[in-house]
Amino acid sequence: MTLDNRPVYTGGCQCGAVRFRVEGALGRASICHCRMCQKAFGALYAPLVSVDDAELTWTRGERSLFQSSNHVRRGFCARCGTPLTYEDPTGSALAIGAFDDPSELAPVIQFGVEAKLPYVDRMPSLPVRETLADPESAGFLNSMVSYQHPDHDTDDTDFAKGFSA
Ligand SMILES: [Zn+2]
Ligand SMILES: [Zn+2]
Repeated sequence: MTLDNRPVYTGGCQCGAVRFRVEGALGRASICHCRMCQKAFGALYAPLVSVDDAELTWTRGERSLFQSSNHVRRGFCARCGTPLTYEDPTGSALAIGAFDDPSELAPVIQFGVEAKLPYVDRMPSLPVRETLADPESAGFLNSMVSYQHPDHDTDDTDFAKGFSA
């Protein structure tokens, strides 16, 4: 919260080269099943929240933009590839997974359902496993060192450690 009680959200890409801050109430959160969003996110569907009248600031680095159609641009981190925005002439939306705390941004509507992949509705019934439940991967996981930027703003500018030459 800001001093005048406006909500504040922060987030950014996986490597930390691009960070954003939003002040004020965000708009509607959604998922989009359209083929463009599948491609842009490399995912089964795109989770997005509208910026609406909130104030979006890029606090570190700049998003890169790909014009995916005559009307729409897609923002992403050019260094690590994390999808960050959907932007059209009526406004912008931010990728929910890029927020430092995506848990409070629950989608309330689905778009593009004519392109929904046929197995998406069956996903909640899939078998479930916790990450540490597989003993064969315990050594791998215990020795893992994350190069992902933490889920909060930092002064760390050493976000190049995950990149190879
Ligand atoms: Zn990045
Ligand atoms: Zn879409």
